[in-house]
Amino acid sequence: MPLETTEYIWMDGEFVPWDEANVHVLTHSLHYGMGVFEGIRCYDTSRGPAVFRLRDHMERLGNSADLVNIDLPYSVEEFIDASREMIRKNDQDECYIRPIVFYGYKEMGLNPEDSPVKAAIAVWPWGSYLGEESLKKGVETKITEWRRIHPKILPPQAKTTANYANSILAKQDALEGGYDEAILLNMDGEVAEGPGENLFIVEDGEVITPPLSSGALEGITRNSIMTVAEDMGIPVFEETITEDRLKEADEAFFTGTAAEVTPIREVDDGIIGEGGRGEITKRLQGKFFDIIKGKDEDYDEWLDFVYD
Ligand code: PMP
Repeated sequence: MPLETTEYIWMDGEFVPWDEANVHVLTHSLHYGMGVFEGIRCYDTSRGPAVFRLRDHMERLGNSADLVNIDLPYSVEEFIDASREMIRKNDQDECYIRPIVFYGYKEMGLNPEDSPVKAAIAVWPWGSYLGEESLKKGVETKITEWRRIHPKILPPQAKTTANYANSILAKQDALEGGYDEAILLNMDGEVAEGPGENLFIVEDGEVITPPLSSGALEGITRNSIMTVAEDMGIPVFEETITEDRLKEADEAFFTGTAAEVTPIREVDDGIIGEGGRGEITKRLQGKFFDIIKGKDEDYDEWLDFVYD
C-alpha cells in the first residue's frame, strides 16, 4: 500500500514540500547503508496528539549514531522540537514519525569522513503494522534460517539502516512461506527477536523476553511492557529462550513501535497456547493501549503532548 503523504518533510532544519524532499542518487548512505533512524508513534488522545516516549527514541537515535561513529548534526532537543513542529505543521492527530540521519552526496568511497551528515524527519498516517486483525487474533510466524546480526559484524543495538538488510531478508522469507512474520535466532541458535519487533513469551504466569545479549534491540515498547508488567504484579525475566521453549510457551507476543503488542498465534505451523491472544498478552496489550491513548495518567510521563 502506498504511504499516505503529508505536506512537509523536515530536511536539515527546513520544512520542505513532501515532493521536493529528495536526495542525489550518489548519496553515500544509499550505496553503503550507513545511516541511523528511528520509528516513533504519535497517538490521538482525548487531550490532543501525544508522542509516545519521544525523548527516549531521540536518545536512542543519538546512541545509534555514537555506535557507528556518526556525528549527530542536531541535538536530541532539536530533533524533539522539530518532530513536534512537524506534527503541528502537517496537522496530524495520529501518525508515525521517521527521523533519519545519513551521509549525503559529495564524495564516494567507503570513508564517509568528507560526506555531509544529513538529517530528515517525515511524519505520515500509518495504521497497524501487522494488520488490525492481528492485534486480536495474533500472527503466524516462521523461524527463519537468517540469523540476527552478530555483534562482531554490526552493532545490533544501533538502529542503522544497514542492519535492516538482515531484517528484510528475514521478512521476505516469512512472507514467501505464507507466514505473517519472521522470528530470528542469533548465531548461537537462541531466539533473538522479529525483524522489527521484540519477542516475549508467557510461561506459568511469568513474562520472559530474551536478554539484550541475545542480539535483541533494546526496544522502547519492550521496556514499556516490562515496566507495565511489573507494575501489574506480573513477574518479568530476561532469559535465554530456545526454539523449543518458544514453541512450548503458553503465550507469545511481539512488541514494537510499529507492531505495538501483537500476539503470536503460531510458530512454524505449531500453535502457541490456545492459538490466539492469551490472557496475559491481552491484559498487557489492553494496558498498553490505555497508556498510549492517554487514558492512564499514571504513565503520563511517557507522553509528549504536541500542543503543550
Ligand atoms: N527490534 C528491531 C529490530 C526493531 O527494528 C524494532 C523497532 N524499532 C524493535 C525491535 C522494537 O523497538 P521499539 O519498541 O523501540 O520500536
